[in-house]
Amino acid sequence: MKYVGAHVSMSDGIANTPVKANEIGAKAFALFTRQPQRWKSAALKSADIEAFKNHCLEFGYTSDQILPHDSFLINLGAPDSEKLAKSREAFLDEFNRAHALGLTMVNFHPGSHLNEIAPEACLDLIAESINIALDQTEGVKAVIENTAGQGSNLGFKFEQLAHIIDKVTDKSRVGVCIDTCHSFAAGYDFGSPEGYEHTWNEFDRIIGFKYLCGMHINDSKKGLGSKVDRHESLGLGTLGKDFFERLMNDPRLDNIPLILETPDDTIWADEIAWLYSLVKG
Ligand SMILES: [Zn+2]
Ligand SMILES: [Zn+2]
Repeated sequence: MKYVGAHVSMSDGIANTPVKANEIGAKAFALFTRQPQRWKSAALKSADIEAFKNHCLEFGYTSDQILPHDSFLINLGAPDSEKLAKSREAFLDEFNRAHALGLTMVNFHPGSHLNEIAPEACLDLIAESINIALDQTEGVKAVIENTAGQGSNLGFKFEQLAHIIDKVTDKSRVGVCIDTCHSFAAGYDFGSPEGYEHTWNEFDRIIGFKYLCGMHINDSKKGLGSKVDRHESLGLGTLGKDFFERLMNDPRLDNIPLILETPDDTIWADEIAWLYSLVKG
């Protein structure tokens, strides 16, 4: 079973995110549990938590189908100790919010070295940040997203994700989210049939399918290896329509959230329906 959905807006409140997901025919969804561009967010209200949980029950979303995304400000590998402390505090808050909402994953971008420390030292800091959050929480998995490698963002090579996982103490509470646009921009050729198989074989060899907890399903505006993170609506970018057909018929990607972060939210319902139409008997 494929759980396809989208990153729905919290503009009508967190309690309404499952309602919005249901409206577009989503079988999964992503959300922010705090304002993504701010360091501080008001605590979740118990009435909102209850309403969120009730809506999830009503529309049939279990925690396996919901992938909350953390704030963009957080840098778990920040070279500056003050920024690192601030990031770790906010990251812990993300875990506590997810837990309060009955969720079991937090999806995040690994971090950036900002050309101030070596990439390896940054990866070590990221793993340490994850360990700190896991030590103080329970029941929520840290789901690391691969990146396009834009600027000094790490996590664009499977080896870098494996390096982080290797240093996380509790392997049962770490996983990865593979973004199709980021992968392609980072140089993984998902576009061709051979490239598709080769990329997943490399993924399995270096990281392992058991760590795959979710995906972001985006086409890419820029080409293979461009290192530029620009999402495109499905079929309008450089990945090609055949890629999405391969993906929807790949049983290795069953039962995990497959989340659209494509730029035109007015066509998400169509994109979801189109993806499901690609599934062969
Ligand atoms: Zn993404
Ligand atoms: Zn992106």
